[in-house]
Amino acid sequence: MTAARLLGVVGTDTGVGKTVVTAALARALRARGWRAGAIKAVATGVPAGDAGEDAELLALATGAEPADCLGLALRLPRSPLAAARAEGVRVDVEALLAVIRRRAAAPGLELLLVEGTGGVLVPVTETVTIGGLLRRLGAPVLVVARAGLGTVNHSVLTVEACRGLGLDVVGVVLNDAGGGAAAVDPALAAENAAQVADQCGVAVLGILPHAGRQERLEAASLDLPALERALRRPAVDAAEVVRLDRVHVWHPFTQTGEWRAEEPLVIVRGEGCRLVDAEGREYLDAISSLWANVHGHAHPRLDAALREQAGRIAHATFLGQTHEPGARLAAELAAAAPAGLTRVFFSEAGAAAVEVGLRIALLAQRHRRQSGRTRFLSLEEAYHGDTAGSVSVGRSEPFHRGLGPLLAAGVLRLPPPHVLRVRDRLAPEAAEAASLALLRELLDRHGAELAAVVVEPRVQGAAGMLVHSDGWLREVAAATRAAGALLLCDEVAVGFGRTGDLFASAGAGIAPDVLALGKGLTGGYLPMSATLVSDELFELFTAPYVEHRTLYYGHTYSANPLACAVARTSLALFGEEATVERGRRLASRLACGLREVAALPHVAEVRQRGVMVGVELAAGGLERPFGPDLRVARRVIMAARRRGVIARPLGDVVVLNPPLVMADEDADRVVEVLAESIREVTAGLPARGW
Ligand code: PMP
Repeated sequence: MTAARLLGVVGTDTGVGKTVVTAALARALRARGWRAGAIKAVATGVPAGDAGEDAELLALATGAEPADCLGLALRLPRSPLAAARAEGVRVDVEALLAVIRRRAAAPGLELLLVEGTGGVLVPVTETVTIGGLLRRLGAPVLVVARAGLGTVNHSVLTVEACRGLGLDVVGVVLNDAGGGAAAVDPALAAENAAQVADQCGVAVLGILPHAGRQERLEAASLDLPALERALRRPAVDAAEVVRLDRVHVWHPFTQTGEWRAEEPLVIVRGEGCRLVDAEGREYLDAISSLWANVHGHAHPRLDAALREQAGRIAHATFLGQTHEPGARLAAELAAAAPAGLTRVFFSEAGAAAVEVGLRIALLAQRHRRQSGRTRFLSLEEAYHGDTAGSVSVGRSEPFHRGLGPLLAAGVLRLPPPHVLRVRDRLAPEAAEAASLALLRELLDRHGAELAAVVVEPRVQGAAGMLVHSDGWLREVAAATRAAGALLLCDEVAVGFGRTGDLFASAGAGIAPDVLALGKGLTGGYLPMSATLVSDELFELFTAPYVEHRTLYYGHTYSANPLACAVARTSLALFGEEATVERGRRLASRLACGLREVAALPHVAEVRQRGVMVGVELAAGGLERPFGPDLRVARRVIMAARRRGVIARPLGDVVVLNPPLVMADEDADRVVEVLAESIREVTAGLPARGW
């Protein structure tokens, strides 16, 4: 059974005649053959046990029972938030959405008009407005405005606010509510209609004249065919999106053959920890849209920061000039970062943050007259991004295949504890000791050749969430320092609270010389990364121009002001919303549920640090992997997607890495779906090696 399409009706103010217009439209559309219903989402000022006048009028217009035309009633004639507070209750948004959706799913219903309460920014709860409610429903909106003086400003403000919330505005109706006063001069109303249409680029569907209630319900003066066309036009033409994608797009890290064979997921919206596809299906974003999203999608504060900055300037170069969001963000990052990292270099991708970090390390050694220090040491299975330098210090055989001519030579590799644990079948402590012994050997032989040691602290993410202890990390840091090499910590993945501390290196008690940040820097909103160093390193690059110590590196969009503004707000949210704490609690919640997953027959290991989780699937223990052709983890994530959870495969590892603010029930659902999906996919697979 498919649900009726929805149309939200919002006013520029309270008392503009939203209910009359909603009722008139419902009735007129019904007369034109639509099986249309109407519902008042939240009615306030309604006596207990009553449906209220608005629901009654909607019922009259649609032939329904008043009770069926009401989402929620509150007694005081105030905003839903204030009225609920006065009654000592809190509006349960999920329950309210469920009521409206149930009504939309009534047999045979084609269209449900959802009338808001007052204007679009009227609060329903502390965090959800009427507009937010309609956004959750995926409803386009019709704006009802007064016909007379003052309407241009209010109409334009409302249309802009709707668009700012991501609501599709299908039209404006001007209503001559009259209310005892003389009717608006039709010439003035027509002039207003033309001006609103012009200024907003939206259709004004007509002016409902001042008249008796019955006549008004005929809505004869409204352009109903135009409304019908708007209603029939899908907000996103998913079929066309897929067609264009199939013909023109090359997706990152995506095997084209598999992409062609699968049904593409077309994401149209995000809301908190949920993503919504073109069919209106909701998914829990259990990987934070590639480990980037921190505070949830469409966070009002981040959205507002983006809009405000866009209103000033979207981009100005950072080459040889500065701007407020960039300078302030640099200072705020320096204050939040591990001690001593006082200088910030901005790029757009995590790879670029590492890339410039490598160059800084190499050139700093040269400027220190340590020109023999030209090599890097990194971890086996490391991933630091895809630019030539960053991929050189990463290591995965398929990623390096064929790239020899592009890659830096002489990178030394240290097997991290996990690799030795599996390869040499060592116990965890023995693997750490063996890894450190190998490090000392490497440093004894090559320490004087090293510019820097590069590590992903605490978790090697893209390798499949390989974790190591803080103790091991401290030993690596100390040995690096003793060898005179710089320590480059790549916190592109682990930074911003993912491992239980704002920054993993500080949490582990190590002091990087170079720190690369990305992903969560903008809360997962915009492409931005940063490389932090000490003043001491920075000053090595300060010299007369002709010495060419200038850092010849930088991108067009370095320190893009939109990204800076959002990053500043994201950093502030960490303080205001106790985001790291919430991430820690989420990590414990996940850990509880994952015990059940760890006990499943084909789960070889569950690795977790903070909210970063890797569930390794195998035929029989870590040493008996499934054949790569089975694509087991990929099949598991597809099964999870069908159940409404977005996860990602990394080889045979299923990865979870949710936004730090995911609610307990959602986290539980993610784990439950993961378990169900693993069971479904592995049921028919061989239990032993291949
Ligand atoms: N470093 C690490 C540790 C990463 O996990 C990633 C991306 N997963 C990168 C660097 C590269 O970041 P980007 O994809 O933004 O270039």
